[in-house]
Parts: sequence; structure tokens; C-alpha cells
Amino acid sequence: MTTTKMKKNKVAIVVSDSEESFKVKNKLIERIHQSGQLELDEFFPGIVISIGGDGTFLRAFHQYRNRLDEVSFVGIHTGHLGFYTDWLAEEVDELMEILESEQKRINSYPLLEITTEKSDGTKEKHIALNEATIRKSSATWKGEIFISGEFFENFRGDGISISTPTGSTGYNKSIGGAVVHPSIATLQLSEIASLNNRVFRTLGSSLIIGPEEDLSVHITDSEGTILTMDNLEFPCNDLQRAFFKISKKKVSFLAEKDVTFWRRVRTAFIGE
Ligand code: NAP
Repeated sequence: MTTTKMKKNKVAIVVSDSEESFKVKNKLIERIHQSGQLELDEFFPGIVISIGGDGTFLRAFHQYRNRLDEVSFVGIHTGHLGFYTDWLAEEVDELMEILESEQKRINSYPLLEITTEKSDGTKEKHIALNEATIRKSSATWKGEIFISGEFFENFRGDGISISTPTGSTGYNKSIGGAVVHPSIATLQLSEIASLNNRVFRTLGSSLIIGPEEDLSVHITDSEGTILTMDNLEFPCNDLQRAFFKISKKKVSFLAEKDVTFWRRVRTAFIGE
């Protein structure tokens, strides 16, 4: 956690399509117009405020993923307490006071860097906040999995998910992965319905790699392969390899509430 001093700040707002979220957006815009310290700028913001749920936050993240060095995010939830959204609609005034003050708390969390390699050798870099998955639209997906360049297993099944610590409570958890504290810079590989026999044999449980390690996948049959990154989905018929590591970039959260990660987990999945 660091404390920084900031000048007049430009703010962008990303909103879900609920009526409640639009009401909060209008209130925020009114307060920003009255403010001497903040102004609206959807193209080059220093602060991005997401209003909605974690899904809306993912949209906000990808809208500004090319400006991660300049941008800090704030999440207001208009549904339940989220993992990326902890301010309530009725707390807009309190939040504005913090955003207008000079000293703001910033917390940063790890991101997943994905490099894809097509059969013609073309490489592309991507970034994800929650996870990336590789699977097929139909039939089983097959791939050889390597940890830091060393062959680990021959996978056949619905697919695999590689999640960040903050993404570990998303899709990763639903497919049996562990919940990882976001202070641990690591990646988790989780299987999606692996098919085990004498040819294809996998560990059968999620695995969490070390902070200096990476994962890579050699896709043996790419026809019908789909690559997802958070809320985004890409058909990848000619994907040959994919590399996954902790990104050098981080996602920064401004004025996060003083709620422990485990309290968020309990509230979301177990109940108060
Ligand atoms: P969606 O299918 O409309 O919603 C997915 C759900 O996952 C929403 O309830 C969302 O919370 C929640 N969520 C998102 N990130 C989370 C996180 N880090 N921890 C706990 N819950 C989280 O899809 P979407 O809104 O576009 O979000 C894409 C994400 O959904 C993916 O990155 C993946 O993690 C997750 N997902 C989960 C499943 C599953 O659990 N079976 C399947 C597909 C995708 P809000 O209600 O607050 O928006």
C-alpha cells in the first residue's frame, strides 16, 4: 500500500445498464461539475469509476487497459458487495471527499499476461484481470501443458483456466480452484472437466505456480479453439501456443474500503 499526492484529476465513468447505476452516475457527474479538483475526461482519465457489479468493473478495466500506468480504479456497486466494487450508492458524497483530497490510498494487484502464437509465428500480447481460458466450442480440447518450459501433462477435456489471485473467486472457484489471497503474486491453473485415460493424464487438481514461474500450452488441435480473457471471447482456429505469466503491469485501486479480502469472500459465498 502506498500514499500519493495528486493534482487536479480527470475522471471517467463506466456504468452498467441498470436504472440504479444511471442514477448514481448522474449524481457523480453533478458532484464532479461542482468540484474544483476533479473534471470529466473519458479519453485520458487518471481515475476510472465503475458503477455496477464486478462484471461492469471488468468492462471498465478492458476499456482502459492500455492506460494502466496512468489510471486508478474505483468501484461503486449497485447490487451486492463485489470483489472489485466496494462503495455503496449512498456513499457517493463520502467517496467524492476522498477523491478530492490530496492524499489517497492506492492498492495494486497482479494481472495475467497472455502471449498467443499463431501457426504462422505471429505473436500477440494480451492482459487479463480475472483469468484466461482455452477451450473449444464443441468436442474436447487437447493441449500439452508446460511449467517454465518443462513438460508437465497432456490435457484433454473441456479446457483450462489460468487465473490471477483476484480472479480466483470468479470462474476459477466455480470449477473447483482455490481462493488465493490477492497479495500473493501467482497464477492458478485449473482444469475444466479433464478426461483422464492412459493417453491423457492430468494432475486432476488445480495448481498454483511460483511467482517467477510461467505456464505455456502447445495446442495440438486448434480447430474450434476459443480463448477467453475475462468478459472477452476470441475464436482462435490457428492458435498454436499460448504463454501465461504474471504481468509487469498491475491494476491500481483508489480509496479501497478497509474490508479484508476474507471478509469479502465470506460475504460473497457464505453469508454474514
Ligand atoms: P457474467 O457471466 O455476466 O457474470 C459472471 C459473474 O461472475 C457475475 O456474478 C460477476 O459478479 C461475477 N464475477 C466477476 N468477477 C468476479 C471475481 N473476480 N470474483 C467473484 N465473482 C466475480 O460475466 P461477466 O459479468 O462478463 O464477467 C466475466 C467473468 O465471469 C469472468 O472473468 C469469469 O470469472 C466469470 N465467469 C464465471 C462463470 C462461473 O462461475 N461458472 C462462468 C463464466 C464466467 P457481478 O454480479 O458483481 O457482476
